[in-house]
Amino acid sequence: MADNAIAIHWRRYPERYLLRGCHCETCKTDFFPGRLFCPNCRRKGKMVSKEMPRTGKIVSFTEVFVGPIGFQHETPYFLALIDLGNKCMILSQIVDSPKEKIKTGAQVKKVFRKIQDTDHEGAIAYGYKFKVS
Ligand SMILES: [Zn+2]
Repeated sequence: MADNAIAIHWRRYPERYLLRGCHCETCKTDFFPGRLFCPNCRRKGKMVSKEMPRTGKIVSFTEVFVGPIGFQHETPYFLALIDLGNKCMILSQIVDSPKEKIKTGAQVKKVFRKIQDTDHEGAIAYGYKFKVS
């Protein structure tokens, strides 16, 4: 995933807070982040808003030692790419999990954490996070 795609992703507020994507009723495909048109069905697609699964599996992860502005005091922390099981992937911080349990293939579940307020452009404020379940 390109850096720019991640930045756009974080600015999509409804998705960030609700983990809401969308679903095409025509081809039964989920999308996250949500989109206006189904790339499979084009104009024949019927898109509806849909909350994404609350559990998933770690595909890959990284430990962050140098955090963005507003998160310096939280380092080190873990960021993981999570497969939600519906062919959708999200990038999320992993919290409340023993370091040895954070590994590829680990089952995780969504938890809500306080969102950090910051006016600094580019700072990442998390609405949801995941923990190893
Ligand atoms: Zn479709």
